[in-house]
Amino acid sequence: MQILHAESLKQRNTLHLDARAQLLVSAADEREVIAALDYARAQGLPVVPMGEGSNVVLAGDLAALVLCQSAQQIQLLAEHTDAVRLRVSAGYGWHALVQACLARGWHGLENLALIPGQAGAAPIQNIGAYGVEVERFVEAVHGVYIETGEAFVFSTGECQFGYRDSIFKRNLRDKAVVTAIDLRLSTRRQVHVVYPALEQELQSRGVDDPAPVDVFDAVVAVRSRRLPDPAREPNAGSFFKNPVIGGDQAHALRQAAPAMPAYEQADGSVKLAAAWLIEQCGFKGHREGDVGMHGDHALVLVNSGSATGKEVLAYAGVVIDAVRERFGVALEMEPRVYGT
Ligand SMILES: Cc1cc2nc3c(=O)[nH]c(=O)nc-3n(C[C@H](O)[C@H](O)[C@H](O)COP(=O)(O)OP(=O)(O)OC[C@H]3O[C@@H](n4cnc5c(N)ncnc54)[C@H](O)[C@@H]3O)c2cc1C
Repeated sequence: MQILHAESLKQRNTLHLDARAQLLVSAADEREVIAALDYARAQGLPVVPMGEGSNVVLAGDLAALVLCQSAQQIQLLAEHTDAVRLRVSAGYGWHALVQACLARGWHGLENLALIPGQAGAAPIQNIGAYGVEVERFVEAVHGVYIETGEAFVFSTGECQFGYRDSIFKRNLRDKAVVTAIDLRLSTRRQVHVVYPALEQELQSRGVDDPAPVDVFDAVVAVRSRRLPDPAREPNAGSFFKNPVIGGDQAHALRQAAPAMPAYEQADGSVKLAAAWLIEQCGFKGHREGDVGMHGDHALVLVNSGSATGKEVLAYAGVVIDAVRERFGVALEMEPRVYGT
């Protein structure tokens, strides 16, 4: 197990923010994860599990042991008549996993193509796109408690998945390292096309009866067109969650702004489009120094040069204040903040 000291994380986060990890370990398997946790405990340091850094804001250096995982295995656990069960190690790249499953005829993940990050991070915020969330496929999450090094296995129900949410962001925040996930995927030609942009893309390609590969291709095309590539324009994807508000407040807002997109939820609450709120406040394409909201996508905060994490957070605060003042709606940041 190699332990790196004062390691730069600039190339390890998609916003390309400059920050250092006091210690950085890349663990090859669960045994090394447990050894790294023991080491951190002996040094009196907190542990920060990190994947590809595509959903974090590094506000400054991390007085912590940053724990990365490199294990990349797909283990076929069982084959049923119309489904397979797999165990995927945490270090597997998410998009590579989607591609590998598609190539083997294991279906379901196509809508989640091109989401950056590792498989181990997928259950943390229950990644979702184009009408599908990963919880639909997760059978179990395997991991290790940071404090004790003891292993755990959680069922889907125990993960308490929600919109961009799970137990790992709540009760188990900073307490658990995910080492593998078990997925159940279909071997039938099943697709899930309910999202307008996806439907339109398939229509424009003349596909009436899409196969999983068609959905995959369409998702990749739409995302490539709409979302800036972090390699060229450093960003962390959607920077704010879509706010969910009460039905009464939504009704009042729609009276004042009939064009406001609003999606009623099963429990009567209403989900708003954060991008629309931000755009209405004039932030689409707006920039202050090296930080700003993208010109084509108001929800994507971009570091267009050498912005610091603190500048990113200050700008995010300005956006949050403006939306609160204009609409009375509280925006919440999606990425997790680390470092001081
Ligand atoms: C261009 C772009 C597009 C995106 N599109 C989407 C999208 O469509 N839908 C969506 O849901 N998200 C999207 N994201 C956000 C991001 O890709 C996902 O949240 C992804 O799952 C993060 O993976 P990661 O490996 O980069 O995690 P990191 O950013 O490294 O970590 C994120 C959080 O998870 C924790 N974590 C990571 N790995 C582990 C582990 N093994 N055990 C315990 N905790 C862990 C970290 O401590 C941190 O709190 C996008 C991001 C970008 C840059």
